[in-house]
Amino acid sequence: MLDRIQLWLGGAPAEEPPTARWEAIERDLPCLDCLPAEARPRLRRMARDFIAQKQFYGAHGFALDDDILLSIALQACLPVLNLGLERYRHWIGIVVYDGDFVVEREVVDEDGIVHSGPDILQGEAWHGGPVILAWDAAAPPGCNVVIHEFAHTLDMANGEADGFPPLRAGMSRDAWSNAFSRAYDDLCRRVDHDLDTALDPYASEHPAEFFAVASEAFFETPLDLREAYPAVYAQLAAFYGLDTAAGEAALPRADPHPAP
Ligand SMILES: [Zn+2]
Repeated sequence: MLDRIQLWLGGAPAEEPPTARWEAIERDLPCLDCLPAEARPRLRRMARDFIAQKQFYGAHGFALDDDILLSIALQACLPVLNLGLERYRHWIGIVVYDGDFVVEREVVDEDGIVHSGPDILQGEAWHGGPVILAWDAAAPPGCNVVIHEFAHTLDMANGEADGFPPLRAGMSRDAWSNAFSRAYDDLCRRVDHDLDTALDPYASEHPAEFFAVASEAFFETPLDLREAYPAVYAQLAAFYGLDTAAGEAALPRADPHPAP
């Protein structure tokens, strides 16, 4: 694969981007809306450190520019704003495709028969790196491919992705386990019975996917997550060190009953 990947040689933008440029990039990232305004400068600084520490590659000649790097870096740093960039120390490369990408998969079914075929992906995180992202992925509202894949890397800091990242000091493993296993069981039951689900049904594939999808919801639609799975919301708020639902609740809302 590497022969088809161009190394991004630009490095971090040499100059501090002007505020208007940050704001233009951030306007396209609704996940940042739940962040207290006073945290923005710290997130921007971390994003520049992130770009300086990581290596970006454009796949199949996809030309990366500073705006793409800054956008990915802001989204990647949001989950670790209060955990610290060192949570990403065990990998270095980020491969960016301009859209969905195809990988060949081999799956062994319960009879031991190997099935192979193409799998269309918007992101993938490998143990030890790299993180692979589709830049122009058509993600539905509430979904975020970048946060999803970086949540997987947090999860893999203590081994295979299993929905159980290294918790912060003072957090209870039992409380995490209870909250996530109950919510995962509920989601799987709903998917099995074709019922509505508060999270993307893809979260029922594996506890690791549940953690990644719940992390997307934590930053994109935290009020919905808190209503559906309050214990999961509470664990994620403790883990990420943010109360995103409070941020979303404080946002100005469109009037649901506008005057005629
Ligand atoms: Zn995933």
